[in-house]
Amino acid sequence: AQETMDLGGKWYLLNGLAGLSIVLAGLILFLVRTTILRGRKLQVALDWVKRIATRDELTGLWNRRAIFPILNRELSRCAREKKPITVMMVDFDHFKKINDRHGHQAGDAVLREGAQRMLKVLRPYDSIGRYGGEEIIILLPGCDREEARAVGERLADSIRSAPFVSGMDRISATVSIGSATKGTPSSDHADRMVVSADQYLYEAKTSGRDRVVTGPSLSYDGEISETGF
Ligand code: GH3
Ligand code: MG
Ligand code: MG
Repeated sequence: AQETMDLGGKWYLLNGLAGLSIVLAGLILFLVRTTILRGRKLQVALDWVKRIATRDELTGLWNRRAIFPILNRELSRCAREKKPITVMMVDFDHFKKINDRHGHQAGDAVLREGAQRMLKVLRPYDSIGRYGGEEIIILLPGCDREEARAVGERLADSIRSAPFVSGMDRISATVSIGSATKGTPSSDHADRMVVSADQYLYEAKTSGRDRVVTGPSLSYDGEISETGF
């Protein structure tokens, strides 16, 4: 009888322990699941914040805030690897007229589609951002002046070659491009390169638009004369 009592007691004890461990396992599972879900929700929120902080809403390109750190990083990398780098400024020609003739919505559509067309021309390691209204900035690491010219022509052609469609309208557009190349860049050249690209863009505008002006006249080692053109 004593033995039966012992067995019965042990059985109850084991049963109780098993029950307790099931409850504990359930609790742990619940906590892990909630933590993972909360983590995921946080991650989604974080990704969203990161996106609106760094992307242009209309075109999806990098915004102005995001493009400068990228330019600095690429300049440092090209300086370290002793590679050239090109900065390009793209500006839509007579964009005011496009808005006046077809409406602001149509203008927006041209910018959105135009950005996509330009993206397709670029290599995965190039960067493209919206600098301002209808101005786009493009960074081409490793690109010398000759390659920059070829890329510039392809970019201009991607805009020129087919009309943009907005509702019933078919809209022809062109861009002017200014491009500055540094043969031997250094990490503190960001501002100067942007200013220089802007000067060549101005030259592209004043010499007739719908064209690419690449600069500068390179010296034997591919260096820029800092005064621009
Ligand atoms: P240019 O050939 O000299 O560049 O002439 P432009 O008319 O393009 O130049 P301007 O700088 O005088 O005008 C730029 C126009 O671009 C004016 C502005 O309303 C328009 N614009 C800027 N941002 C946007 C935008 O996000 N959407 C639309 N639809 N238009 C924009
Ligand atoms: Mg313009
Ligand atoms: Mg402009």
